[in-house]
Order: sequence, then structure tokens, then C-alpha cells
Amino acid sequence: MRTDLYIDGQWCAGASRRANINPSDTGDCIGEFAQGEPEHITTAIAAARRAQVGWAESPLEQRYAILSTIGQNLIARAPELGELLSREEGKPRAEGCGEVSRAGQFFTYYAAEVLRQMGEICQSVRAGVEVQVTREPRGVIGVITPWNFPTALPSWKIAPAIAYGNAVVWKPAELTPASASALMEIIAATELPPGVVNMVHGSGATIGAALCQSPDLNAITFTGSLATGRQVAAAAATHLTPVQLEMGSKNPLVVLDDANLDGAIACAVNGAFGSSGQKCTAASRLIVTPGIHDRFVAAMQSAMAKLVVGPALAPDTTIGPLASQEQLDRSLHYIAVGEQDGAVRVVGGELVAATTPGYYLSPALFTDGDNTATLNRTEVFGPVTCVIRADDYDHALTLANDSPFGLTASIITQSLHDANHFKRYSQSGCVMVNLPTSGTDYHVPFGGRKNSSLGPREQGRYAAEFYTQVKTTYLKT
Ligand code: ADP
Repeated sequence: MRTDLYIDGQWCAGASRRANINPSDTGDCIGEFAQGEPEHITTAIAAARRAQVGWAESPLEQRYAILSTIGQNLIARAPELGELLSREEGKPRAEGCGEVSRAGQFFTYYAAEVLRQMGEICQSVRAGVEVQVTREPRGVIGVITPWNFPTALPSWKIAPAIAYGNAVVWKPAELTPASASALMEIIAATELPPGVVNMVHGSGATIGAALCQSPDLNAITFTGSLATGRQVAAAAATHLTPVQLEMGSKNPLVVLDDANLDGAIACAVNGAFGSSGQKCTAASRLIVTPGIHDRFVAAMQSAMAKLVVGPALAPDTTIGPLASQEQLDRSLHYIAVGEQDGAVRVVGGELVAATTPGYYLSPALFTDGDNTATLNRTEVFGPVTCVIRADDYDHALTLANDSPFGLTASIITQSLHDANHFKRYSQSGCVMVNLPTSGTDYHVPFGGRKNSSLGPREQGRYAAEFYTQVKTTYLKT
């Protein structure tokens, strides 16, 4: 496995090394990964700048073939790379393998988009003048990614960036350098010209900050926490560098009296505890109306009793460990805060001893939640969810929208009227009906409102809004 930085088509040593620890077995060191210095960012941006001009002019079929090869290789190697991902991040093997496959699909999707780049021609208001509207690459894009989707998330940024003719300087998350390096190796093994994609490992405070402060970037795309997103935006503002920020959320799953109970439970368990709740699309507020409330809570407890917390790669594990000690401490902190604020912890929220030492926590269900309490305002990013009682549908909608965030929102109901009303009045970027809050497609826009997102949407054709800039040409013939 490569453990170095990748700059201008070369693997190169950094200034120091950082150990990568398996969260399912803290005695297992996956590798010692090179850590860059701010100078590596300067070198990488310069390489990207040189490479970008030629890359933007490369024949479309060359670009198509490279993206398509990356995607197919990711899909073919999903079992192996999924295992590596699960080993370093902690999500169960099936989720790890699924993620690598999905990462491949981002590349195959954007390979096809390479061949579908169209402009517009229109009449001018002036006689004899024609107007053309075209899109051009932005140039060099800074890509900053978190650890919770260490393969899929960089892919949904890097694939459109290069598909539309940009070059990239990528800073992966500190916790998941092995998945990042595996992706980089697959990209580097293609005919992609040196310098088009560069990867610099390192801490957010040094490498991430150096990237955001650079005057030589044309745009920055970031996914991570709200606090860091604010820092990224503030640093980028110095040079008025455009930013695309995807941050936290506090996603509501509304369960109405007429809901199919089994369906509601499946959506709640999947949405709240998939990837140990370490998703920005996790269902962390379960807003339930009175006619189904007690049955819902009882059925949640039964369903949660069947969850198996254990090492990510153990065959019967359904809930892996948290990704790090810091993540575990964070969940424990918010569990204590929830109790102090008067919510009732009915099950879970306890440390679990597995066969190997790791950051294991049983999924926690709170009831009697107050929507204004810290537990229901702040993103926990762990396997912790809270039931909040609503008087009726209108009250449930009000509670769902009463949040500083707005990424996804879900409603479970058999009423077409309420489903349609919710679809119309939810203040979230993505709305699900009879589906979990998590789980989105790659060919349609993804993003949120309020503190969840800033800038144009990611994914699908909407990604062009961020990865290209529009030019309007007036032509007198
Ligand atoms: P998380 O809590 O999920 O790790 P962060 O927002 O802290 O989320 O991290 C997301 C990404 O942002 C990581 O790659 C991290 O290294 C990077 N990062 C952290 N701090 C900064 C910063 N000040 N400037 C730029 N990037 C940063």
C-alpha cells in the first residue's frame, strides 16, 4: 500500500509520518502515512496549475476513458478496498464494500457527463448579433474531505472536477489515509497527466488551512463539520475564492399515526444507526404523533435489541465501532447532556466490550425529547437518536423545520396529502417519503439549506454549477 503524498505524478515522502489505527482493534496499526507541510500544498497547486490547461483541452474521449477506467477499477476492487475501508473507518464490511462500489459509480457517471457538455446559442436583442453561453473549467480546485465516507465522498468531488476539465489538490481526512491512498493509486494508474490530481495528507489545521488560504486556488469544495466549514469560508473570503460547503445536520424523521409501523422502524434504525450514525444524513430526531408513539418506541426497542455491535469485519456485526476515541467521547458527552436536559434514555448509550479493544458504543434511543434542547439542536455524529412527541402532522412539520440545519428530512405516512404537503413545506434540501433520511442517488443534486450547506449543489448535472464557470459570448456576424 502506498503511504506517501502524491504530487505532480510522483509519490513523495512528507515531513513526518502518522499512524493509522483500526478503530475495531486499537492494537492494529494499518500504516504510517506521510504528513505534508504547507510547502507541499504550494508545490501541488503549482503542478495542478501547469497541468490544468492541457487537461482542459484534452480530447473528450480521452477524459471519458480515464474516468471510466477509474470507476470500473473501483467497482472491480470493491471487496478488497471495502475491507480496507471498514478496517480503518469502522463501518461494517457490507457498508464498506457498498461505498467503494458507489465511489466507482460516481466516476462512471461523470465519464458519461464528459460527453454531454453542451452550451446554448440564442438570439440577441440586437440585430445581427448571436449570443453563446458556454461553460469553462474553473481551474484548480481544492478538495477537503472528511473520514466518514473516505472513498465515496472524495470521488463525488474529484470525478466532476476532472470531468469538467479542472485540476485538483486534495487533502483527505487524517483518520482515513489508507482509503484515500487506495483511491489515489487507482487514479494514478491511469493515463491521467501528472499534476491533474494531487493528494497531500496532513492535519486540517496546517494542510487544510494552507489550502484554504492560498491565493492560487480557483475554488474550494469542503465536507465536514459546521465549525470547520466556517473556518474554510472565512479563509477563502480573503481571496474571494468560491466555496462549496457541505456540513452537519439534525435530520428529522416524521412518523405519523397512519404509518406502516414496520416500515417506520426499518427507516428509523437504518437512518439513525447506519455507519454508527456518523453521517450528515443520519436521522437524529424521530418526530412521532400520539396515535403511534408508544407502539413506535416499543418496536424500536425490539429492533435495537437485534443489532450486533462489534468489529467492522466480523460477519455478524451490524453496528461497527465509532471511528476514533474523539468520536466516542463526543457521543458520550451528548448522551450525558441529553440526560441532564431531561430526555429519557430508554436503551443503549453504553460502552460495549468486543473481542478486540475498540471504540464500541451501543446505539442509544432517547424519548421525551425537547426540540429546543442541545441534544436536538447539535449534530452528535454518533449512534444517538431522540424521539420527540408531536401533537399532529402540523406540529410535526413545525418541529421538523425548527432546526438550524436542513439537509434531509423524511416522513413516514400513507397519506398522499400529508406526504405532498411535507414535500412542499419541508425546509430541507432533500426530502424522503417512506424512506430513511440517508441514502441518496448519485445522478441527482445533493445538498441542504440553512447551516447544512453553502454554495451550489453537489452531484448529478448540478455539479457543473460549481465545477465550471459560465461565459457569455456576443458574436456579430
Ligand atoms: P470531522 O469532525 O468530521 O473530522 P472536520 O470538519 O474537523 O470534520 O474535518 C473535515 C476535513 O476538514 C478534514 O479533512 C480536516 O482535516 C479538515 N480541516 C480541519 N480543520 C481545517 C481547517 N481549519 N481548514 C481546512 N480544513 C480543515
